[in-house]
Amino acid sequence: MKLYNSLTRRKDEFQTHTPGHVEMYTCGPTVYHFAHIGNLRSYIMEDVLEKFLRYAGYDVNRVMNITDVGHLASDADTGEDKMLKGAKREHKSVMEIAQFYTDAFFSDCEKLNIKRPDVVQPATGCIDEYIKIVSSLLEKGYAYLAGGNVYFDTSKLERYYVFNDHDEEDLAVGVRDSVEEDQNKRNKADFVLWFTKSKFEDQALKWDSPWGVGYPGWHIECSGISMKYNGEYLDLHCGGIDNAFPHHTNEIAQSEAYLGHPWCPQWFHVHHLNTNSGKMSKSKGEFLTVSLLEEKGYDPLVYRLFCLQSHYRKGLVFSWENLDNAKTTYEKLLKRIAALKPEDGPVDQAVVAEYRQKFLDQVGNDLNTSMGITALYDALKAKTNDATRLAILADFDQVLSLDLLSKAEQLRQQAANQAKTESAGGYTITGEGDPEIDALVLRRAEAKKAKNWAEADAIRDQLKAMGIELTDVPGGAMWKRV
Ligand code: AMP
Ligand code: ZN
Repeated sequence: MKLYNSLTRRKDEFQTHTPGHVEMYTCGPTVYHFAHIGNLRSYIMEDVLEKFLRYAGYDVNRVMNITDVGHLASDADTGEDKMLKGAKREHKSVMEIAQFYTDAFFSDCEKLNIKRPDVVQPATGCIDEYIKIVSSLLEKGYAYLAGGNVYFDTSKLERYYVFNDHDEEDLAVGVRDSVEEDQNKRNKADFVLWFTKSKFEDQALKWDSPWGVGYPGWHIECSGISMKYNGEYLDLHCGGIDNAFPHHTNEIAQSEAYLGHPWCPQWFHVHHLNTNSGKMSKSKGEFLTVSLLEEKGYDPLVYRLFCLQSHYRKGLVFSWENLDNAKTTYEKLLKRIAALKPEDGPVDQAVVAEYRQKFLDQVGNDLNTSMGITALYDALKAKTNDATRLAILADFDQVLSLDLLSKAEQLRQQAANQAKTESAGGYTITGEGDPEIDALVLRRAEAKKAKNWAEADAIRDQLKAMGIELTDVPGGAMWKRV
């Protein structure tokens, strides 16, 4: 596979330290609020990448952290702790907030068919790892103590700005948010490895350390967690594009200084989901969630399709109109699949293999997921029988995860359930073929025939209470759920 690498700034042939095996790391969510659908765009694309690698025959070990400590309002180590902010907002403890939003995140992931990584590690669970790394960085002279905190000294590196050739003078302190300069830093780009002093006194989670009671900086958690579960050689590191600087830049600085050798050669960054008013962000208050999409009647997989239709290295603009287009596409696709007849002959494995190879080549060109969607239409038009077409679609869906076959089967079932029940007297009930409802409708018809209006009305009320709308039609009745 060819994959764009933010480090080399070109599409490289994907390589791994151990042939056939991928050590993959993903920066997980900061669990102080619900994930917005922008965050989830990143996780959807990373999920497709993992599934594609498995589809291409790699064995993958994927690790993800959960940021439940240390992530301050500004990525440059200043401002309020995000977890504390969430806890105050909801009058709960930091750990309660963390548990609630971690569960909410994985529930959203499940709805979007995002596979749970092999290892999920909350940052608060690896304090010893961070202390080990920070101690070693101090010993090696890559870190210094100032004002009670431990800082990484970026001037000790030959090249710090690995992703962008920043002019150091251009780098305003705070990067994204304008914040005051930390006087303890020797160089503007230095960052905190361990805090014992911060601007806010009510920091909830603190641990003993050789430098006093405190808590880890945000960046050290990803290095520590990755080294613990991925080992010293990471093959692929993922995150949203805003993570490239300073977060990933700092991860590389501290990891390589600690290990004494290159750490991760391939970096995958997903570009942002934007609305017409700009980048979606948790800190801006109002934002779009999976639950909101559901409330508005969208299947979350429509959003997954929407993401897959565009390339991960391009910004994506969200609008309801764009989502509606994806919805129409999804429904039409399912209808076409539902019309295929599974039992129309044996699967032609040679044709499946030919399509599989094409899919590998096309999607394997820098994770071109929109070509993956186009491949579904090619499969529908393949010169073969329906059983083979379905086998190809099922094969592609291992990567795309759009539930194509099961949703199409649901559609087929629904159509079949538009069954008609004939009574002995020639009375026809048209509905979903539910025996309990049909029996009630029939009893009502008999009550009416016997001019027992009270019973007929009572049964109609009973059906209404069950959410059934009943319409009398010539020769029978029709019912549907409302
Ligand atoms: P956070 O929970 O803020 O730590 O972010 C979780 C992930 O979502 C990170 O990989 C971010 O880079 C990514 N992310 C944040 N905002 C967006 C956005 N608008 N579009 C896509 N990814 C985003
Ligand atoms: Zn990270």
